[in-house]
Amino acid sequence: MKIEAWYSNNFEPLISGRYITLEHIKPLLEKYKNHYEISILGVSELGKEIPMLKIGTGKKKVLAWSQMHGNESTTTKSIFDFLKFVTQKDAFKDEIRAFLNDFTIYIIPILNPDGASLYTRNNANNIDLNREAQDLSQNESKVLMNAFNALKPDLCMNLHGQRTIYGLETKKPATVSFLSPSSTIEREVTKSRRIAMELIVGLNEYLQKLIPGQVGRYDDSFNANCFGDAFQMKGVPVILFEAGHIGYDYRREKTRAYLFYAFINLFGITKQDHFPINYKNYFLIPENKKNYYDYILRNVLVNDSIKPTSIAIQFTESLENETIKFIPKIAKIGALDGFYGHLEKDGNNSEILVNSQNNIEIGLNVSVINNKNDKSLVYFYEKNYLF
Ligand SMILES: [Zn+2]
Repeated sequence: MKIEAWYSNNFEPLISGRYITLEHIKPLLEKYKNHYEISILGVSELGKEIPMLKIGTGKKKVLAWSQMHGNESTTTKSIFDFLKFVTQKDAFKDEIRAFLNDFTIYIIPILNPDGASLYTRNNANNIDLNREAQDLSQNESKVLMNAFNALKPDLCMNLHGQRTIYGLETKKPATVSFLSPSSTIEREVTKSRRIAMELIVGLNEYLQKLIPGQVGRYDDSFNANCFGDAFQMKGVPVILFEAGHIGYDYRREKTRAYLFYAFINLFGITKQDHFPINYKNYFLIPENKKNYYDYILRNVLVNDSIKPTSIAIQFTESLENETIKFIPKIAKIGALDGFYGHLEKDGNNSEILVNSQNNIEIGLNVSVINNKNDKSLVYFYEKNYLF
């Protein structure tokens, strides 16, 4: 059986969409407590538990944490897909047995449960936990640092999600991006950094077959306040995973699969043709660029101008009644050369009205765009379209 076939029939159906909290994963933790050791590492600033699962009995120790940024939930879904995969006994039996013998993986599925519940990047005190690896003023940061110090991992997986604005020089969106963080201001390739680079080169080669031209490399500026950089400073390789965007997958159900494939490839469960891995190929992975918008409407006449222009729309996310609403706003008006839309439309030089208004400006919330002359619909935002 191919892994893609297993995945499409067996991914974890109990969690989906963008809003993933401790409450959503509790039934899954309940199920897995019969299979794996689950410990509570501490509590968040608002007193929510921070659980950790231990999988496998091998010598190679890996520490993984997701939702350090509370609204970056895609990799949490991929973790539970991964847990379902390694727990089942129908497919890939030998590979899974070898994995469980080789590795011990410690997984913190939601490091920032308050931010997850509020659907915010920051924690309940509005602190970005990934900027306080030195200060350690927040409970969640202390939990992560204590786990790192106690477990002494051989590898860390720092699991994040990135906004829809990121694309690549390939003109495609950055569906998955990686970083081997720097541990010095000069961004030297230290031993631990090189190990993470080599692993990323392998992951990139594998993912290119699934999402050609859609794998990116994150900015490697050094910042000791970021946990990835701080752990690399202590000589432990860290891979930053960024779950990004593809097409109209605002629920991030497609991207979750690519992160799942990356996890199982990292642990040698899916084999690939052997090729000599050279860490230098890491630098050939294209860097993330901010060259994407959610929607671009090209070649339209706005504000009584006779010169055609383009309009970029970007969604802002808002938590309403336990679901995430995406609110379209005009982000840019101009030529937009070198920018791409996850969805694009050609307005064929027609005059347009936004929300029946002539006066179109940046920051305007968009519900409908019409052709000014024949009133035909150009763009319509389904207000109840929830993710
Ligand atoms: Zn993040």
